[in-house]
Amino acid sequence: MNLIQLEQEYLAHTYARFPLCLVQGSGAVLKDETGREYIDLGSGIAVNTFGAADPEWQQAVIEQLGKLQHASNLYYTEPNIRLAQMLCEKTGMKKVFFSNSGAEANECAIKAARKYAAQTLGSDYTTIITLEHSFHGRTITTLAATGQAVFHQQFQPLTPGFVHARPNDAEHLEKLLNQNKCAAILLEVVQGEGGVNALDVDYVQQAAKLANQYGALLIVDEVQSGNGRTGKLYGYMHYNIQPDLVTTAKGLGGGLPIGATLFGERVQNVYTPGDHGSTFGGNPVSCAGALNILQRLDDDLMQQVQQKSEYIRNALHNAPGVRSVSGLGLMLGVDTLRDASQVVQECMEQGVLVLKAKDKIRLLPPLNIPNNLLEQAIETLKQVCAKQE
Ligand SMILES: *Cc1c(COP(=O)(O)O)cnc(C)c1O
Repeated sequence: MNLIQLEQEYLAHTYARFPLCLVQGSGAVLKDETGREYIDLGSGIAVNTFGAADPEWQQAVIEQLGKLQHASNLYYTEPNIRLAQMLCEKTGMKKVFFSNSGAEANECAIKAARKYAAQTLGSDYTTIITLEHSFHGRTITTLAATGQAVFHQQFQPLTPGFVHARPNDAEHLEKLLNQNKCAAILLEVVQGEGGVNALDVDYVQQAAKLANQYGALLIVDEVQSGNGRTGKLYGYMHYNIQPDLVTTAKGLGGGLPIGATLFGERVQNVYTPGDHGSTFGGNPVSCAGALNILQRLDDDLMQQVQQKSEYIRNALHNAPGVRSVSGLGLMLGVDTLRDASQVVQECMEQGVLVLKAKDKIRLLPPLNIPNNLLEQAIETLKQVCAKQE
């Protein structure tokens, strides 16, 4: 039996996969089992920050693997401590909790917000406001946080205490703050799975102000938009706000599983021993890799990300078959006249891997994709978008 048949037989049917088996890669180029090469504009969904098999990241990971792969959180290890320090120094946040995924990073923030609200507002201040079209994960609680009914069906009852506000509508947000006893507002500054839409600056600043006014925390989900993806270290940095809690995952590890919840001044001491934990959280190998990634996300690279973003926007602006381009940095959504699934399919046939978000094409290339490969891939995308059906 070939791999596709074996997968059908032995794996839970949670993914609609493309008939493509990737075996290796180098930077922004991936190779399938037949040796065919693809330019990667997806980075394994914003995970492979510096592309496939990045030599520097690999060296950091291998070095740590040779020393100690895991220790448990009963003991101190160096990589997670250094990584937490660097995260705080680069963001002004005060404390970090490490987990293994975006959903877990959000679970940690939600628990922290509930505990903080119980201490400061009262134990009935449990509601968390999230936005319509948001995506926060697949656990029963982060599904409840996710403002898209399509993910909720057949999984009820979800964790109670979540209400959904209309994005970019501060009045609606204030109404929900009045109607509910709220612990926090949780939002993605650039909604990824929801269609790559950056929230309005005014709205995000209003949300921060309202949260403060009502004694609720502001939690920013940077699982996808974080770690240099938008052309700043974290997406919220485009908005001139200081969140109380920041969650991240995907690109932080450069390809190994890691989640992080960052705690601001007000909430830095909300957790005490026994409140939260994770067996794999802060894994030394993941953290050694993440440390390498984080230290390379400097101003120079952020400028390159913004330049590449400009290049893509200019190339696709008014291009035949392209309605509009949304998003920030190298987290872009392309609204195409043609059916997005068809565009993804044909790009793949032409040797370019792109993603979808709702009805749009989503582009999340490695942050260091060479310009010539980016130009070649965007040219292919343009041609596919321009095709008449
Ligand atoms: C992917 C994603 C998550 C979930 O992350 P997992 O690692 O799959 O649990 C949560 N929030 C946002 C914004 C995401 O893009």
